[in-house]
Amino acid sequence: MPLPRLVLCLFLALGCAPLSTAQPDPPQVVLISIDGFRWDYLDRPEAARLRELASRGVRAERLIPVFPTKTFPTHYSIVTGLYPEEHGILANNIWDDEIGKRFTLSDRAVQEDPRWWGGEPIWVTAERQGQRAATYFWPGSDMEIQGVRPTWYRVYNNSTPNDRRVRTVLGWLARAPAEAPTMVSLYFSTVDNAGHRFGPDAPETNAAIAHVDSLVGMLVDGIESRGIAHRVNLIIVSDHGMISVGPDRQIALDDYIDMSRVQVVDWSPVLAMIPDADYVDEAYRRLKGAHPNLQVYRKGEVPARLHYNTHPRITPIIGLADEGWSITTRARLRTARPDLLEGGAHGWDPELVSMGALFVAAGPAFKEGVTVPPLRSIHLYELMTHILGLKPAPNSGSLDSVRVVLRGEK
Ligand code: AMP
Ligand code: ZN
Ligand code: ZN
Repeated sequence: MPLPRLVLCLFLALGCAPLSTAQPDPPQVVLISIDGFRWDYLDRPEAARLRELASRGVRAERLIPVFPTKTFPTHYSIVTGLYPEEHGILANNIWDDEIGKRFTLSDRAVQEDPRWWGGEPIWVTAERQGQRAATYFWPGSDMEIQGVRPTWYRVYNNSTPNDRRVRTVLGWLARAPAEAPTMVSLYFSTVDNAGHRFGPDAPETNAAIAHVDSLVGMLVDGIESRGIAHRVNLIIVSDHGMISVGPDRQIALDDYIDMSRVQVVDWSPVLAMIPDADYVDEAYRRLKGAHPNLQVYRKGEVPARLHYNTHPRITPIIGLADEGWSITTRARLRTARPDLLEGGAHGWDPELVSMGALFVAAGPAFKEGVTVPPLRSIHLYELMTHILGLKPAPNSGSLDSVRVVLRGEK
């Protein structure tokens, strides 16, 4: 072969060929939850960085969570695309006859039993299909589910400083594309904590919003300065809204039933109650219609739109308080510190505007500068698997219901 031809071949083989077949960096999704960030907090002065991000991406008028609007069921529905009656994380407090234990937020040892966690969370989908996941907190993400954990994860610790969470996530995202995680989660509880203690309209809650807003700014700036904005898709959500509660809107169960004959698995505003076998009918009759602000159902009779009927862990009697009403006992009301009956709460019907959550997304997969009508959180698993090129596990969401946020889609 004449020398110039040889040189040309070598040049093509070594120099040009890799360039011409170079693959774009795989897309990454960062799913961020700001617990208890009601949808309308986004328009408060304290949320400037979030609004700026929304102006470069998509925001939904609000995100409609699943029922009940509590942290564990709503977060786990976002990452599985399943309703609580399908995945089994029915509430923050759950009883299971087979496991013989009570699931609570604070009991990690009980949570470790994989039988609690139905469905396939997105970090498991990613890991099983050859991608990597990294989670800086998300309900279930520090547990083994279907024998799988994220490649990188942290055991939940409420007091880990928020800026450390952000710095660690930036480090994960900026790893070399071939080994970086594609699915990353990040979680902040600061706004929910303030909302409970001081109420949704308190200056302390606004200060918490400003604090988390600055963390979002830190994340966005860090993504820019590391030169990875072309591959990172941010999805910032919350799990539910928040509403003020007070001592004047309390429903005392012991006004109507004998508390020594029932086991209360979860109290308020969704009552999960297991009466003694010979007291089920009587307890139901006594509670039904007893208080004008308490709806009472037998298992299987909860309105279908709430998707709260089929799971074996659903208790024989379910109560649902009206918006802003709490369920308790006379005995507790007598002894409770008055300030504990005030502040904020959530858990009510997800269709209530006060229970509406946040949705802001920005990055190469998303439209720019668009506000879309309310979205349902059940569809986010389909959205994220689509962006990451993953085959979704069976779920109750549909991509068509969220396509509107995607770049290039109508
Ligand atoms: P909720 O009142 O339903 O919004 O629950 C909020 C509480 O859930 C927060 O105070 C968090 O500390 C707690 N929490 C959030 N994520 C986790 C987790 N992965 N493990 C245990 N507790 C959590
Ligand atoms: Zn929450
Ligand atoms: Zn909360």
